[in-house]
Amino acid sequence: MKKADIVVIGAGVVGLAITQRLSASGKKIILLERHNTFGQDASTRNSEVIHGGMYYPTASLKACLCVEGNRMLYEICSRNDIACKKTGKLIIANTDNEIKNVEEIYQQGLTNHVPGLRIIDEREIKAIEPNIRARYALYSPETGILDVQELMQYFETASLENSVDVRYDHEVIDLAKNSDGYFVTVKTADGGVETFVTDVLINAAGMFADKISALLGIDIDGNHYKIYWVKGEYFNISKRHAGKITHLVYPTPTTVSLGIHVRLRFDGTMSLGPSAIYVDEINYDVDPAYVKQFYEEGKEYLPFLEYADLSPDISGIRAKRQAQNEDAQDFIIRNEEDKGLPGFINLVGIDSPGLTACPAIAEMVADIYRNL
Ligand SMILES: Cc1cc2nc3c(=O)[nH]c(=O)nc-3n(C[C@H](O)[C@H](O)[C@H](O)COP(=O)(O)OP(=O)(O)OC[C@H]3O[C@@H](n4cnc5c(N)ncnc54)[C@H](O)[C@@H]3O)c2cc1C
Repeated sequence: MKKADIVVIGAGVVGLAITQRLSASGKKIILLERHNTFGQDASTRNSEVIHGGMYYPTASLKACLCVEGNRMLYEICSRNDIACKKTGKLIIANTDNEIKNVEEIYQQGLTNHVPGLRIIDEREIKAIEPNIRARYALYSPETGILDVQELMQYFETASLENSVDVRYDHEVIDLAKNSDGYFVTVKTADGGVETFVTDVLINAAGMFADKISALLGIDIDGNHYKIYWVKGEYFNISKRHAGKITHLVYPTPTTVSLGIHVRLRFDGTMSLGPSAIYVDEINYDVDPAYVKQFYEEGKEYLPFLEYADLSPDISGIRAKRQAQNEDAQDFIIRNEEDKGLPGFINLVGIDSPGLTACPAIAEMVADIYRNL
C-alpha cells in the first residue's frame, strides 16, 4: 500500500493551489482527481474574475481570503507570466433601490479593506464607459480578469517539479481512519481499485466535498455541510460589439449570485452571465430557452444589445452551502479534530470567490498543517 504524508482530493484551482503551496515542504504528497486532467468542473467554468472582496460579511472567510487572494493572485500572475488584467469593475445602479444597494456594498467594501473603492456619478460613468446605461456606480479599480487555465497549469507544473504524485482518473470512493492514518480508496479509469494511506487528508472536492466528508462519518446535515448545486449559464454577445466595454460591469447582486454581468475576455469579446438555478444533476449544456431572460436583463444596462446578439456559451455549477431561500453561507476550512478526525483538513462550500481566494486559502491550509 502506497504511503503519503499528505493526500489532496480534487485538482480544481483550490486543490492545485494547496498542493503547490504544501509541495515546497518536501513532504510526500499525492493529488487525486477523478477526471483525466485538472480543472474540469467549477474552476474552468466561471467568469475568471479576480474579485475585490466588497460583497462579503465583515470578518467572514470569504471577505478576508478574497481581499488577500486578490493581492496574491496579481503577484503570482505577474511573476509567472500568467495572463491577467486589472480591468476595474463597476457595480451599477439605475433605480433608487439599486443606489441604496450599491451604497451598502461600498460601506461593506470599506469595512473589508478593499482598496481604491469609490462612488462615481453618471457623468464619470459616461466618460469611462460610454456604452452603458447607469445613473450611479461603485468603482473597484482592483477587480480584473485572469486566465485560469494558465494559473492551474502553473500550479500543476510547480507541484510536479516538487515531486508531487499527481494521479488523474483516480476517483476517491471510500475513506477510513485508524491509528495508522487515513485510508483512501480510489477507483481508476481502467476499473482498478487502489488504497493509499496518509497522515493528513485534504478535501478540496468542490461539488462533492459533502460526500467526501460523509465518507468519514461526518453528519452533513447537522454540521450544515450539505452542498447545493447552483448552475450558472452564460450567453455570448456578438463579436461585432467587441471592445465596446472595457470594465467589468455588474448589476446589483441577488441573494444567490452577483447578478448577470458582463464577462470580459482578453480579446475584447464579451458574454453575459452567469444565471443561478438550483440543479441536482451535472449537465453543462446551455439551454437556449433562457436567451429571453438574458436579453431582458442585459438590455437594462447595455442599450446596444439586440436579441440576435446572444448565443449560448458555457455553464458552470457552484458548490454552495446555501439552500434555496436561505442566506448566503461562508466557506468552511478547518481541521476536523473536534470530530475525532485530526489531520482531516476539510474545505466545504468553496463557491465564489473561491478562484480569487485560492492562494490565500492555500496559505490558510498551510497554517493549519503547520499547527497540526
Ligand atoms: C458560474 C460560476 C462563476 C464563477 N465566477 C467566479 C469568478 O469570477 N471569480 C471567482 O473568484 N470565483 C468564481 N466562481 C467560483 C470558483 O469557480 C470556485 O470557487 C472555484 O473554482 C472552486 O475550486 P475548487 O477547486 O474548490 O472546485 P472544482 O474546480 O470543482 O474542483 C474540485 C475537483 O474535485 C474533484 N473531485 C470531486 N470528487 C472527487 C472524488 N471523489 N475523487 C477525486 N476527485 C474528486 C472534481 O473532479 C474537481 O476537479 C464561479 C463559479 C461558478 C460555477
